[in-house]
Amino acid sequence: MATKGRVLIIGATGFMGRFMAEASLAAAHPTYLLVRQPLIPSKAAIVKTFQDKGAIVIQGVMNDKEFMQKILKEYQIDIVISTVGGAHGLLDRLTLVEAMKSVNTIKRFSPSEFGHDVDRADPVEPGLAMYKEKRLVRRVIEESGIPYTYICCNSIASWPYYNNCHPSQLPPPLDQMHIYGDGTVKAYFVDGFDIGKFTMKLVDDARALNKVVHFRPSSNYYSMNELASLWENKVGRKIPRVTISEDDLLALAAENCIPESIVASITHDIFIKGCQVNYNIDGVHDIEIGTLYPDETFRSLEDCFEDFVTMIVEKIHKGENEVYGTKSLVEAVPITASC
Ligand code: NDP
Repeated sequence: MATKGRVLIIGATGFMGRFMAEASLAAAHPTYLLVRQPLIPSKAAIVKTFQDKGAIVIQGVMNDKEFMQKILKEYQIDIVISTVGGAHGLLDRLTLVEAMKSVNTIKRFSPSEFGHDVDRADPVEPGLAMYKEKRLVRRVIEESGIPYTYICCNSIASWPYYNNCHPSQLPPPLDQMHIYGDGTVKAYFVDGFDIGKFTMKLVDDARALNKVVHFRPSSNYYSMNELASLWENKVGRKIPRVTISEDDLLALAAENCIPESIVASITHDIFIKGCQVNYNIDGVHDIEIGTLYPDETFRSLEDCFEDFVTMIVEKIHKGENEVYGTKSLVEAVPITASC
């Protein structure tokens, strides 16, 4: 049996990176994690679970070019997946590309995207500034000749809070549901587990070489109104709906408070402008993932919402937080920029 490519994951202690590390280990790739020090205890615990499953931890930062060249050579890395956060670190990301270019042995690179097609989507500021950086990283990768796959997985399967970009860590609301605009614009929702699983397939798939891969599972295609109904059906009761207008989102974006304003600008792009659906996938460099793996299914949003019901029931049993009042169920997790 052919040996699986050696995978380096940068950002495995972060939100998206954990799905990548899980999936790489599950697919039996020799898996290396670049981990920054110092680690807070919760992140150290995550790293330990990956080590227990066979991951090899390399301590360091990707913005040290010589160090990156050394580890890419020493560990004979074939595939690099970066999931560093979206709002900062342009120079760090460019340094990583330089290091990969100079060793000239990388067979596939998936840069930190995992959201929208940044060349097509056109959010208002400050989301636009982040997309401009991601576009620049794309151009530098293409110029460098490093084989790449850009993953446009669209939205994470969860309630799309307009002020929290790691929404899958929060259940949908129970007190009131914010509906963006008239609630009819649709988006694609993909479970984090599937984002990891399909990313691992793609970085090993010649058909995805130098392509932009779009995740558009038809089973997980919902408008805000449909999402709200799905959640009401799950919890078995009506929940008041409150409109967040286009102007509300634009006003929050204009405050330029990072990262909240970035999330607001991207929410506006998705649910007002329809940035996930207002173009056809027909370029020579584009692929819809279903055409590559027609027999594979995506976890349904309904099942993901079932997980949130379980999460809520567990919270109630533990006596945590208020559930049917106006307080949020759990404290919002700290936010960093999304998509
Ligand atoms: P996080 O901020 O959660 O995690 C970033 C990770 O990168 C952390 O592990 C961090 O390490 C690590 N890191 C940052 N800088 C360096 C460096 N110089 N060297 C080594 N490691 C570094 O990011 P997210 O997971 O939120 O974002 C990743 C990507 O996923 C982004 O492109 C984002 O836009 C996208 N995303 C998409 C979503 C969607 O709904 N489609 C939702 C959320 C994100 P440390 O632990 O030390 O901080």
